[in-house]
Amino acid sequence: MTRLALFDLDNTLIDRDAAFRSWAEEFVDGHGLGAEEVERLVTLDGHGYLPRETLLAQVKEDYGLDGRVEDLWAAYRRRIPDFVHCPPEVRDGLARLRTAGWRVAIVTNGHAESQLGKIRRTGLDEVVDAWAVSGAEGVRKPDRGLFEIAATRAGASLGAGGWMIGDHPVMDMAGGRAIGFATIWIDRGGWTGQEPASDHTVTDVTEAIGILLSEVEGR
Ligand SMILES: [Mg+2]
Repeated sequence: MTRLALFDLDNTLIDRDAAFRSWAEEFVDGHGLGAEEVERLVTLDGHGYLPRETLLAQVKEDYGLDGRVEDLWAAYRRRIPDFVHCPPEVRDGLARLRTAGWRVAIVTNGHAESQLGKIRRTGLDEVVDAWAVSGAEGVRKPDRGLFEIAATRAGASLGAGGWMIGDHPVMDMAGGRAIGFATIWIDRGGWTGQEPASDHTVTDVTEAIGILLSEVEGR
């Protein structure tokens, strides 16, 4: 049986919120705005779930910026990967999974340029078998199609089962359940009141990788 692990990217393999905060700090500083605007931007960001065009249209209006929203969005896409980091222990954990016989892929919603930029900048491209980015494929989590693309590229098939690891209760956890996968929820603390239908709940992806590695040893 092929062991397949599908990982979400933002706030699962990488700390997307920290990257956004760094971007906001640079933006605020570069535009001569008050430091309190960083917190405002972080709130507006909504953990990345506010569409970027909406976010940047609001930014343009609030700060009276010249130029087009499209250009702000293009600059954002180019810059945000520079602020993204993946801890070495996460990359090492993914490499260990593959050594142990797992196929590993990233399944992420987002713009192709920014998501691919993050995957490459962090070196994740070197420690996974494949990735599927919604912006490049025209299908988004929780739709089965994006999971299927990732699985196929990783040399596996959804029908053989596997694990989905992510921080979003609907896109990752419900999406993972719907394809018949076991799930591990990365509890980022932002989803109070929602019941994650997950097989395991952890606070960090390295714990999730540990669970997967012990699965192999336990069977
Ligand atoms: Mg996420």
